[in-house]
Amino acid sequence: MLLIRCPYCDEDRPEVEFAYAGEAHVARPADPSALSDDEFRDFLYVRSNTRGLMAERWRHVHGCGRFFNALRETVSDKFHATYKAGEPRPQGDAP
Ligand SMILES: [Zn+2]
Repeated sequence: MLLIRCPYCDEDRPEVEFAYAGEAHVARPADPSALSDDEFRDFLYVRSNTRGLMAERWRHVHGCGRFFNALRETVSDKFHATYKAGEPRPQGDAP
């Protein structure tokens, strides 16, 4: 069973309590109305889909319900770190 540490509850909990919520650190444009249709499409839908270490958003759905960020190795499914939303991305181990 895969265990994920919730940085708010500060406990390792089973993966079935969590939900994946997309890529982390996607910056919202300062002025969305100034973007072209293609640029806005890229902001909404185009993600890096990294093979290796990736920063992701997760939600502790069946726990505290809060969103947090995680560094996960997408090939091995190993979680390198979890951290609270708004905190900077840790370096993590090289994949
Ligand atoms: Zn939690």
